[in-house]
Amino acid sequence: MMISVSTGLYIIPLVRYMSSLKMPFSLRKQLKNHFIIGFVLFGVSFTEFIKPFLRDVRKLEEGVIMNIRGQEYLIMGGLGIVTADLPQGNDLAGTKRHGANFGCRNCFANKKNFVDNNFDIITKARYLHEIMELINKRNSIESSSRQLEFNTKYGLSKKPSPFSLLQFDPFTQIPQDAYHAISGKIACLIESTIEILSKRGENDFIKYWKNFEMPSS
Ligand SMILES: [Zn+2]
Repeated sequence: MMISVSTGLYIIPLVRYMSSLKMPFSLRKQLKNHFIIGFVLFGVSFTEFIKPFLRDVRKLEEGVIMNIRGQEYLIMGGLGIVTADLPQGNDLAGTKRHGANFGCRNCFANKKNFVDNNFDIITKARYLHEIMELINKRNSIESSSRQLEFNTKYGLSKKPSPFSLLQFDPFTQIPQDAYHAISGKIACLIESTIEILSKRGENDFIKYWKNFEMPSS
């Protein structure tokens, strides 16, 4: 008899380690439950580095029979979540970096839409099947300059997502990192606060800011 067991993995590309999503969070966060995939030297492409690992995950998606204490089990699994910071997350999703006109890996917001409260994030989201169609369309263009134009129009990077051989949706399974999601807004808030202060108020603000109490260690 075969018992099917499902599992899920997540990778953190900057440190290149993985953990099992089957574990409860209390166990998952422990250092001993993080498994290092490998260390990547500077200048080595992440795509090349991760290829052998992805081939193994591909096998796991199809199912691997393992004999555990005389009993055969069908083990299936896949990649659950990849965490990365903003620039690398965009690289891994196969989209342009955040400075581009369409530099959001989750939707087609351009720079003007960033302050638009009415922007419809559901209809303008990046859906995997639509992006696959766009990529096929781009690859069928013969002229390389027209291909570049096409990439600019849709914020696609030249290289596809390294995870495209897996059952994996990079637009929903690579979450945005908290720092990059709020740092721009906080800078805006501080700038607007400073703007409404008088010169004396500004000096006081800076004085308090600089003397902000820090923990001694
Ligand atoms: Zn977006």
